[in-house]
Amino acid sequence: MAKGFARSIRDSLTRTRNAVFSRVAGLLGTSEVTEETWEKLEELLVRADVGVSTTVYLVNRLRKRARDEAILQADELQGALREELRSLLPDASPLNLGDRDRDVVLVVGVNGSGKTTSIAKLAHRWQHHGRTPLLAAADTYRAAAVEQLDIWAKRIGVDIVTGPQGGDPGAVLFDALQAAQSRNNDMVVVDTAGRLHTQYNLMSELQKVHKVAAKNVEGAPHETLLVVDATTGQNALSQARHFQEAVHVTGVVLAKLDSTAKGGMVFAITRELELPIRFVGTGETLEDLAPFDPDAFIDGLFE
Ligand code: GDP
Repeated sequence: MAKGFARSIRDSLTRTRNAVFSRVAGLLGTSEVTEETWEKLEELLVRADVGVSTTVYLVNRLRKRARDEAILQADELQGALREELRSLLPDASPLNLGDRDRDVVLVVGVNGSGKTTSIAKLAHRWQHHGRTPLLAAADTYRAAAVEQLDIWAKRIGVDIVTGPQGGDPGAVLFDALQAAQSRNNDMVVVDTAGRLHTQYNLMSELQKVHKVAAKNVEGAPHETLLVVDATTGQNALSQARHFQEAVHVTGVVLAKLDSTAKGGMVFAITRELELPIRFVGTGETLEDLAPFDPDAFIDGLFE
């Protein structure tokens, strides 16, 4: 992985590191492991939004290792903790993109999560990799979302297909797929509604969009990325579950990692939602998106 991305992941973890993991490092100093060590460790991990169930799992694993490996000094635990945290994260693997004439990527998530910005960053990134993304503004319920996406599209110089406000998002996607075919775009990135009057409406809308993609392009959507706002912590998990019920989510874009000390969410998302983190948002500009690298992430938590 490029060194630049490791650095930007590390920089975006500054709050998480300062608020929590440097304290974990401090806690796991040279003293002896006592019951208090475990309690404090548990408290710090919960505070980093690692999640209660994942924290309990981790601390139990560490207790067992401390017993089995006769670890008496707290500083030896730090290495074990890093190993256990790393083992919660799958190794980086390629996205299911680039193996066909045209990729379709659905992007879902609640309003305000950073969805529009993340779509712009993704399109910008893929464009730099020689792709020709076309954006489909299928969040027809929110005029501001369409406008915002249009501004981004012009700024990065990618095609965009929009529809009338309040119109059928499935029709926008259909038009976008046709446009991509006639203009030879090799990928279509679809913005979707992030809020409707009811949860039921939102989910059935997403299902419809999903169906239009599946019906018109073989194997589509090839990736369905859920944008999660890192600053919302554990609440984001229940939101994510709703999206998972509606569509088959394949990965997470964790936006605003730079704005939060809740970076431990990465573990909760991976373990409790069983979804790989694909990208992290590291700031507000187009370049502020890093492909998720588990090793760089673990290093960034502690140093
Ligand atoms: P949407 O309503 O989900 O489409 O959210 P937007 O894309 O409009 O983003 C909401 C706000 O979050 C905007 O002010 C963005 O600039 C900001 N934002 C998005 N991603 C990031 C990120 O990775 N880091 C930071 N610091 N801000 C972000």
